[in-house]
Amino acid sequence: TALLSLRDVRKAYRGDAAPFALEVPRFELAEGEALALAGPSGSGKSTLLMMLALAAPPDAGGFVFAGTDIMRLWRGARRDALAALRARRIGVVPQTGGLLSYLTAEANIALTQRIAGRRDAARLRMLAEELGIAAQLGRRPAELSVGQRQRVAIARALAHRPALVLADEPTASVHPELADAVLALLRRECAASGAALLVATHDPDRAARAGYPVLACATHAPDASGVARSVFDRP
Ligand code: ADP
Ligand code: ADP
Repeated sequence: TALLSLRDVRKAYRGDAAPFALEVPRFELAEGEALALAGPSGSGKSTLLMMLALAAPPDAGGFVFAGTDIMRLWRGARRDALAALRARRIGVVPQTGGLLSYLTAEANIALTQRIAGRRDAARLRMLAEELGIAAQLGRRPAELSVGQRQRVAIARALAHRPALVLADEPTASVHPELADAVLALLRRECAASGAALLVATHDPDRAARAGYPVLACATHAPDASGVARSVFDRP
């Protein structure tokens, strides 16, 4: 069954110099499925992930997530319901970790569990062990290597058992030698947790090397009205 389903979704940005429109004619993601979204910088990958994170409303279209009609929630300005759904069902791996500097790795990971109302110390420890950061749990982000920080961010994204994990260029801050490993680790941990995974990347070859199916966007130069379009279609 589809965890996520978009139909004819559209979001446009006016922009002074360069108006932009993202179009998603059809997109479905099954429970537990992993996929890389590939496109050059400015092609709308972050815009799509923001909509999927329930953080920005599409202008139009159909959007069903985990059996919930998301467009209906946006139309009703149900920000409470959107935030609750996001906290319980979605995990995010930001580009550069996004960890809170004044909290230990352990407290950072526990944060998503607390917000979701789902404390689970055993799961936290299991994730830390699988990700090779068990010995670093008492340290703050500044005391960790870049690779360790990104593994803490992966544990945090999975600690509350989300159905969907969203990662926007999760290897942007990681050395190239480490990037393949981080992508492979992310995919493995999501698979082990049964979470579906979407990774946005400008490097489809790297994603493919790490074992991801890749959906490339089609970019269109500005049309007569000056709008550059980017299309993510997965029929
Ligand atoms: P990517 O993640 O692929 O680099 P983005 O989704 O960040 O692409 O951006 C797609 C386009 O939308 C770009 O032209 C960008 O300038 C524009 N854009 C993104 N966010 C905003 C915003 N909040 N306001 C106006 N334009 C935006
Ligand atoms: P079926 O009729 O075989 O169930 P559909 O294509 O109607 O196939 O639905 C498949 C998935 O798409 C379901 O998860 C459903 O919730 C979702 N879906 C149906 N209509 C829309 C829509 N307008 N926008 C987004 N998702 C939709």
